[in-house]
Amino acid sequence: MRVASSLRAVARAASSEARRVPTYGREGAFFVGETATSGRGAYAARDFAVGEAVVVHERPLVCAPSRANGRAIACETCVRESGGERFCSDACARAGRVEFERERGIEFDELEARCDARALKFPLVVARAATMIASGSLQYGSLEFLVSANGVEKAPPRQWVEEWETLRSALARARPALEWTPSLEWYAKTTSRLHLNSFRVEIPPAMVGAGADFKSTMTAGIDAIARGAASGTAVYFTASLFNHSCAPNAHVSWENGDAAITIRTLRPVRAGEEFNITYVDANERSASRRARLKEWYGFDCACERCASGED
Ligand SMILES: [Zn+2]
Ligand SMILES: [Zn+2]
Repeated sequence: MRVASSLRAVARAASSEARRVPTYGREGAFFVGETATSGRGAYAARDFAVGEAVVVHERPLVCAPSRANGRAIACETCVRESGGERFCSDACARAGRVEFERERGIEFDELEARCDARALKFPLVVARAATMIASGSLQYGSLEFLVSANGVEKAPPRQWVEEWETLRSALARARPALEWTPSLEWYAKTTSRLHLNSFRVEIPPAMVGAGADFKSTMTAGIDAIARGAASGTAVYFTASLFNHSCAPNAHVSWENGDAAITIRTLRPVRAGEEFNITYVDANERSASRRARLKEWYGFDCACERCASGED
């Protein structure tokens, strides 16, 4: 997930048959190539028409629901609308991580309070990744594929150190004690990866309540979603390969109503062309888009739209 590439890089990647293997996405829809300025990127393995799926229902490596009024606004396992309940289904309430936390008596009340007070979203996603690793439902090292900031673990911000201490003290109460607990270095690296690679999961209100046992339209969760709050935060393996452009040729959606992500083309895309999605609202004007990209992802956008001076 970084800056959009130049046409030169697209041509170079397209000319290299070797880079077409291995392919990813739906039926080998894309391959990974090096861009000129943004590290790796996702390139079309064939021609695509408008609206074709490139990635279909990719499940997140880790996800967590957004919070409002001191509680999660969606299912704590899959981020699906849950009518104000902690989980949307029995399966989500019995997920490996959840069972593990219950058995070991792990609770994140202090970390949640800290996040609620400061409007933080990443510490709880990191906490989830930590218990998933400790329980064996996420392989240690499986997040290392994601881009992180260089050297961030050597001098982590004070705030991250405090978050890590809060997480550590929650995990230290586990009985029996955990076989693995996160180091500060792991915490800082993982937080950095989330900053650079996480998606705001935005399940449209129209999908909310589509389930058979929809309870009430007046729950805090639905209210928060209706006000435009994201349902949650998630990181993905292949979706993280898609670079940003302010004039994207593909877009992301959550068609299942949970954190599984789908990427579809917005216009015809030729074989060898890089797929781009937008990390911000592409309808915003140039100055505000660029400011957000700088603040949230730390780069100066060099996409064709920005380079052309178009607003
Ligand atoms: Zn769920
Ligand atoms: Zn741009």
